Amino acid sequence: MKRIPFSAVFPKPHPLSGQHTEFQAKIYMGLKTTTMRAGNWQPGVVQPYYWRDKPYRSPHVVWPFTLRVYAVVHLSITRNGVGYFHRKDNCLLKKDWASMAQYEGLTEDVLVAWFPVDCAMNLLCFTPEAAADFGRAKVESVAYGMSEEQLRHEVSLVRCDVCSHKWVAVRPEGLPWLECPNCANMVQI
Ligand SMILES: [Zn+2]
Repeated sequence: MKRIPFSAVFPKPHPLSGQHTEFQAKIYMGLKTTTMRAGNWQPGVVQPYYWRDKPYRSPHVVWPFTLRVYAVVHLSITRNGVGYFHRKDNCLLKKDWASMAQYEGLTEDVLVAWFPVDCAMNLLCFTPEAAADFGRAKVESVAYGMSEEQLRHEVSLVRCDVCSHKWVAVRPEGLPWLECPNCANMVQI
């Protein structure tokens, strides 16, 4: 069974560095139903653990229960929130940080501080409800005739060449143009 590490304490340079995360209790009680991870993850059963001391340089402290990953959803993490592909509406959606914090079992400030830079991550959903909310993009990408690459997101600052409006755009990787939210011009990117 694949193992998945959780931080027992908040890492440096997080403002709560050294304090206990209580992730094991929060997940057990259903107060944390997702986790954001780099790397490649698949739906299935995983065994969570803490590092006894320093990450990668101390023994695993295996939790007394396993977790089922119901869905793996590609995320684009930005200052404004989290972008992802929604299977039901077949479109890109965004969740604000306050909503994400509820899933992650943290306050908004504490969660935002965990991700100081924009990045791409996977969201692992530990409940059917979370999986249904975010959409099983990875599992069901075939149903939309889209490859996994097409479901991956890019984030960048885009400037409209007609009205000069600037915005941070989250979109599937490789999309050649975007509609300007201000003037509806199609902007080449
Ligand atoms: Zn424009």
